[in-house]
Amino acid sequence: MNQRNKLTVLFCLAAVCLAAVGGFYIGRNAGGIPEEKEPAVTEPTELQLLNREAVSHMSDEGKTIYVIGHKSPDSDTVCSAIAYARLLNLLGYTAEPRITMPVNNETKYILEQAGAEIPEILYSAAGETIFLVDHSEYVQAAEDMVDAHIVGIMDHHGVGAVNTGHQIVYEARPIGATATIVWLDYLNYGFEIDKQTAHLLLGAVLSDTSNLTGSTTTEADKKAVSALAEIAGVSDVDGFYRALHEQALSYEGMSDMEIMFSDYKEYEAGNVKYGIGLVSSVKEETSRELAERMKNIAEEAMASRDVDYMFASVGIREGDIKVDYIIPMSEASKELMEQVFPNYDEYDGTSFIFRNGGLGRKTKFVPGLNDFFAAHPHE
Ligand code: MN
Ligand code: MN
Repeated sequence: MNQRNKLTVLFCLAAVCLAAVGGFYIGRNAGGIPEEKEPAVTEPTELQLLNREAVSHMSDEGKTIYVIGHKSPDSDTVCSAIAYARLLNLLGYTAEPRITMPVNNETKYILEQAGAEIPEILYSAAGETIFLVDHSEYVQAAEDMVDAHIVGIMDHHGVGAVNTGHQIVYEARPIGATATIVWLDYLNYGFEIDKQTAHLLLGAVLSDTSNLTGSTTTEADKKAVSALAEIAGVSDVDGFYRALHEQALSYEGMSDMEIMFSDYKEYEAGNVKYGIGLVSSVKEETSRELAERMKNIAEEAMASRDVDYMFASVGIREGDIKVDYIIPMSEASKELMEQVFPNYDEYDGTSFIFRNGGLGRKTKFVPGLNDFFAAHPHE
């Protein structure tokens, strides 16, 4: 009998004992003795015990199971790995979460809020015992996944190329987040979710469903968010989402030049060449800060590209709100702005600010400049 079969027997024995004790208390209460305090842990139902039993035969060969998500890890991939590794621990397995590469700013924020540590990086999966979350494609997986011993997959995407001949735990649901499947498993196995795990899962569901507005959002995701928020003690869910969304756009750890050229495009109009780099922001305060940083590297940025004019466009796109801070990267670029787009709302010494509707690169900025160059050909 392996460890988990023993566990199952123990669970059943415990259930029988508690039923007997419960009966004793009912008897005592009937006799007028004050009611005893309820046991802290809710007893698993027969169905929950069966669900546990059904995953108690994974072929881990007694080794540590590494629970790991995809490359370029997002919050769903990281938080689901942590929460599911904990669930496997509760089921009697030795399991630890791993990541494929460093986490992004949003995930870092969620981990910090929850008080959880960043999982270690798994550099090679060769020869390791692996449970995949949030993906099932080798190209998205950690290095050498082809040579890993995969014991389970939990996902909410299409079926990928990962393949194995032996029996595995395979759970996929067409819903908003892998984290919601993890939450459902805690319910199905009858385990309480601790506060930190709830916080992590909450952040993951909010991130993957864009605060329950994404097209893949289901009733299960909504229920997960309300239940997890209560356990995590997060009363302002929208506020938590806004904060983590802002982190996603914070560009922390990137150099100013990397930010400037992370979404940069060049255009040619007649014999004029110009470039516009888009930078994303969530509020005006952040926009001003980013605009200042772009202005500081103006000379270096101009020198690094063969263009006549260059602009950074720091934009806010939140629901109906569209605001753009256009930073000219040279004196000639500034003069051009004043000539072509005199209808800006404010010039603060760094940026030309366009509020109502902004100055979208594709919709207004580029067409406006091209029209101007067509009407005023350079000598
Ligand atoms: Mn993902
Ligand atoms: Mn996901």
